[in-house]
Amino acid sequence: MATNGLQPAVFLDRDGVINRFPGEGQFVVSWDGFEFMPEVRPSLKRLRSAGYVLVLVTNQSGVGRGLMDLDDLHEIHEKMQAELGSEALDGIFYCPHHPDDGCDCRKPSTVMIQRAAEAHGIDLPKSFLVGDSGRDIEMGRAAGCTTILCRQNLPPSIASMQKRYQPHAFAKTLPEAVDWILQG
Ligand SMILES: [Mg+2]
Ligand SMILES: [Zn+2]
Repeated sequence: MATNGLQPAVFLDRDGVINRFPGEGQFVVSWDGFEFMPEVRPSLKRLRSAGYVLVLVTNQSGVGRGLMDLDDLHEIHEKMQAELGSEALDGIFYCPHHPDDGCDCRKPSTVMIQRAAEAHGIDLPKSFLVGDSGRDIEMGRAAGCTTILCRQNLPPSIASMQKRYQPHAFAKTLPEAVDWILQG
């Protein structure tokens, strides 16, 4: 633990990082649609062993769009945590709102990270954000974290994404992102 009593964290996006991205405009609305990415448990284990608090931060506008309700979302997260077992995430923060609602918590807002930092005593400048979208990187940077854009297939627009969002690093997979974090 750091001398200020705060702990470093790794903030993880959900769709596209923990589980397969369901596709543009598609939503994971039940456990049936949730498919873990490879090597998630060992990746989380490595981060936890290195002293990181593990926090999920996810926009789930499928709730606000009426495609699922909060009970459906909670059930998905309960089953995810059960599957992760000893590597279950320390915190789960989500924005359930419709993008047009103008809520204050939807990424790229840093509100979910701020809530997590308060709840878990997190040292944001010593923390990392791993996500697959520009919104993730924008949020992480605004919160003062080191950011990793994690995408299996880097889009053709990668140069413009790099220029626009300026992630600190790229990784094709979560294990690769963990390698980068742990090599200091
Ligand atoms: Mg994502
Ligand atoms: Zn929200």
